[in-house]
Amino acid sequence: MAKKIIVAGGGHGGIACAAQLAAAGYEVEVYEKNDRAHMGYDWTDIFDPKSLRAAHLPMPPKEKYEYKTNMTFIPPAGRTPVKQDVPENELEIKMERKDIYDLIINHAEKNGVKFFFSQAVTGALLAGDRVIGIQTEKGDVYGDMVIDACGCESVLRASLPAVCGIQKHAGAFEKFYVYRAFYNKVDAEEPADPYKVYMLPNGRMGIGWVASEEDYSDLLIGEFEPFTVEEAEQKAEFFRKDNPILGDKVLRGGYMVEIPVRQPLSIMVADGYAAIGDSAFMTVPVIGSGLANSFKASKMLSDTIIADKSETYSAETLWDYQVKYFKELGSGMAPLALVKLLLAKITPEQLDYLFDNGILGADELTISADSTSLGSMLSFDPSLFGKAKNLFQDRELTTLVIKLGRDIGRAAAICATMPKVYGRYNVQRWAKGYDRLFRLKK
Ligand SMILES: Cc1cc2nc3c(=O)[nH]c(=O)nc-3n(C[C@H](O)[C@H](O)[C@H](O)COP(=O)(O)OP(=O)(O)OC[C@H]3O[C@@H](n4cnc5c(N)ncnc54)[C@H](O)[C@@H]3O)c2cc1C
Repeated sequence: MAKKIIVAGGGHGGIACAAQLAAAGYEVEVYEKNDRAHMGYDWTDIFDPKSLRAAHLPMPPKEKYEYKTNMTFIPPAGRTPVKQDVPENELEIKMERKDIYDLIINHAEKNGVKFFFSQAVTGALLAGDRVIGIQTEKGDVYGDMVIDACGCESVLRASLPAVCGIQKHAGAFEKFYVYRAFYNKVDAEEPADPYKVYMLPNGRMGIGWVASEEDYSDLLIGEFEPFTVEEAEQKAEFFRKDNPILGDKVLRGGYMVEIPVRQPLSIMVADGYAAIGDSAFMTVPVIGSGLANSFKASKMLSDTIIADKSETYSAETLWDYQVKYFKELGSGMAPLALVKLLLAKITPEQLDYLFDNGILGADELTISADSTSLGSMLSFDPSLFGKAKNLFQDRELTTLVIKLGRDIGRAAAICATMPKVYGRYNVQRWAKGYDRLFRLKK
């Protein structure tokens, strides 16, 4: 009899994994709290199209996407903007999130995945420490294993027994509170830089972007501290001053969401359980890439499940998924969480100094679709540290950057020592050291 895999939440990685498992003959069911018409946010996303191929997903029809333009990074004082220069063959695509969902849900259904919409998961069903199913608001569902694709604040992950050692909630400085809206476009001159990313805008700890599109202007404001939609409207005034095209009528979006900006989860699996996507914090801190990483991870997870000939889906057999994920993506991303912590500590003046003196230039900020490791994404290491001698006029900044370099080295060393074989004691001891590294020390 086919083994039954439950996917809790309709996260992108979970659906992509469901499709691969169903194609391999597993019985797969997805439980999603929203109804089908309300899947996903009402806006566009940017991601690496190669990640679709990696997850055995079809490319969307050409009219459904376009290639993303280079971003221009604006430092706090705005004096020395820096434009990226991403090679054409590495450009990401921009697509409506609802179209992405159509693409992956239709594909999964064709492969035999059963979807249960409007059915919220409320927690895990347990037999001892083993996950044997999910509790939903409409009743209990049993299966051979559960894939957690419930997103950043997964109720399923939060309901796991402490003995699994899996972190239940994202900590301070590990989430961005984001306001995003598409506004009308005011009839003004087209900006020379159509896609601007503001670093520490208006003295606030966070980022913002304004993109000039054909029929609308796209505003995003992300901060480490929560704020209200009313406060977002006030903050929008700062961006309007520099972007006369940004109107004041919200056409789409206009609400608050949370996005993880942190290192991957230190333990992603337990007996009968694996987390994927935002539930395992598979975003790249600072720049996102959550969709591409979730799609790529879906192949690693489905391969691991299919390779488990014992069909026990225990922490031991599922651990291989985490090992693969860290080897291919996680080890490169974890150090970026430290760069993000630098952003949380640096003053606007210090950040301006890095831009003004060419320490953060086009090379450092050219983030391509192939960017999966610190080395390919930011030339912080070693070139930034080579440039560190330019920093000596600002002692505090120099100390911050040198400490960052040391911590990045430590992060790489810790990721390299991740146990290859699962043993609860070994894995939890390793996870403790890994988690400690990312605690914000003021
Ligand atoms: C404003 C914003 C902009 C972004 N832009 C980009 C971008 O341009 N490119 C990019 O790659 N990434 C982007 N991301 C990140 C991206 O959305 C995620 O990293 C990616 O979707 C992976 O997350 P996920 O699918 O696992 O989780 P989610 O997108 O959070 O999906 C989780 C799903 O689970 C469902 N769910 C949650 N709880 C329950 C429950 N209890 N029961 C049942 N179902 C439940 C939710 O309804 C949802 O459908 C952006 C995120 C935000 C917030």
